Amino acid sequence: MNSTIENLYPNAQKGDDVTSQSIEKLINEHQFDSKKTILGTSVCSDEIIRSAMNFRDHIDNQNPFELGGLGGFPFAGLTGFKAFAAHIPDNGFAIIQYGPHIGISETGHTGMVVRGGQALETTCCGALMATVDAFKSGKKSELDQELDYQQWKIAEELNESRAAIVKEDEPLIAATDQMFSQIDKRVKTLLEKTSSHFENKKVALIGGIIINTDFGNSDWFDLKEFEVQSF
Ligand SMILES: [Zn+2]
Repeated sequence: MNSTIENLYPNAQKGDDVTSQSIEKLINEHQFDSKKTILGTSVCSDEIIRSAMNFRDHIDNQNPFELGGLGGFPFAGLTGFKAFAAHIPDNGFAIIQYGPHIGISETGHTGMVVRGGQALETTCCGALMATVDAFKSGKKSELDQELDYQQWKIAEELNESRAAIVKEDEPLIAATDQMFSQIDKRVKTLLEKTSSHFENKKVALIGGIIINTDFGNSDWFDLKEFEVQSF
């Protein structure tokens, strides 16, 4: 199918633009101080993600706390959230950027991109694509829960929407939307359950779908959630 970012994600903007607008809003409307802010991310392990958003260019502490894993699910869990809370500067602020990602190549292939140093397209997000392919095959999952825990968990998270996903024209788009909902819910649950650790801190939740493109082109972001919680 010949897909474009414009028709699949009409509200998406370039990742860098979403980043600068978000930072501006946090500073002007929510009194964030870039010198006292740390970044947490719950995004896929895929190295292609790092180029999509540039929050670290706007804050002094540039190294993100990685709360996520395959597919962007917040695998760091309660322990990760408590540790992240403990690292926020005194009287400071935190940004949590989260969500799944999907590639759209220049040739219009959904779920594919050409990466640096490669000539052919590869899957993106590979973890979600593998889950969708397994759903389409109709076979029972053979994933090793111990040795492939994150991939197994993604299939578990999407399983309730399995029938709805496979009947779509673009099952990967449906799976990515559903993955966003699951990540969004889990990030909020983890934050709520660890809220006492965030006392006197402000946390910005910035969630959406990262849209990766071929190497050398800009990445995009479909912003779905922007919320500031004070504790
Ligand atoms: Zn991925």
